[in-house]
Amino acid sequence: MFSQKLRLDGRVAVVTGGGRGIGLAIGEALAEFGARIVIADIDAEIAEAGREALRAKGFEASAHVLDVTKPQEVEAFARRVVEAEGRVHILVANAGIALSGVAAEDTEDERWLQVNDVNYNGVFWCNRAFGRHMLGAGGGAIVNIGSMSGYISNRPQKQTYYNASKAAVHQMTSSLAAEWADRGVRVNAVAPTYIETEMTRYRDGNDGMLDVWLRDTPMHRMGQPHEIASVVHFLASDASSLMTGTTVLADAGFTCW
Ligand code: NAD
Repeated sequence: MFSQKLRLDGRVAVVTGGGRGIGLAIGEALAEFGARIVIADIDAEIAEAGREALRAKGFEASAHVLDVTKPQEVEAFARRVVEAEGRVHILVANAGIALSGVAAEDTEDERWLQVNDVNYNGVFWCNRAFGRHMLGAGGGAIVNIGSMSGYISNRPQKQTYYNASKAAVHQMTSSLAAEWADRGVRVNAVAPTYIETEMTRYRDGNDGMLDVWLRDTPMHRMGQPHEIASVVHFLASDASSLMTGTTVLADAGFTCW
């Protein structure tokens, strides 16, 4: 049964940055197919709001505070979750920040370090901790959230620090996949176009920015969080059993031009 491959019943899925935006939509998609969701977010209120939103839709979830940039915190969190749940089958390393709009020559040390710490280091700490558990448990599926910015240079906003951090996520994904492929742990990534979330809200304060984005996009629209969540669900499920090390673009055609 092909449809059975999409089911996630009995599986536990950790979603970092899962309290809102794309992460919350991912939680909803995975939960709808039967997974129990573990939300990990740096912001306690956001994490709790995400849990409530899932619960209101009838889905089971727990909410935890986690800063993915702290490797020891991530290790301790992974141990706690495994202890409580018995097993983690799916990790979605989604937490990320953009801090867009500063030219390379004006980029402050702190901005470069902060963005790379969350988007790149944080993804590795989570992959390492949960990947080790999955290797020991005999398998698992990891989905990292990259970006089309890992392939292109956005305009008009400048954000070399963000673009570089996302290209690193794509490369890390294929390197980890190669290391773990013959031990049952698949690692893939999704590279979204502009999605309507808090992260891209800065477009409102920048006259003409949205027009440039839409003109540059063959579909002439932004994406919605659920349109990324469905790709993540596919990669997290057995329907993608032959896929590992791949970064799937969900970019409304952006990289075609
Ligand atoms: P968002 O800002 O709405 O959500 C990000 C979540 O991550 C928030 O809940 C935030 O509290 C959490 N977070 C931030 N730093 C954290 C940390 N150190 N530890 C744990 N949690 C942390 O953004 P979003 O648009 O939903 O973005 C989700 C992911 O998708 C990010 O990796 C982002 O780079 C990527 N992405 C977004 C877009 C877009 O256009 N929105 C496009 C491409 C890729």
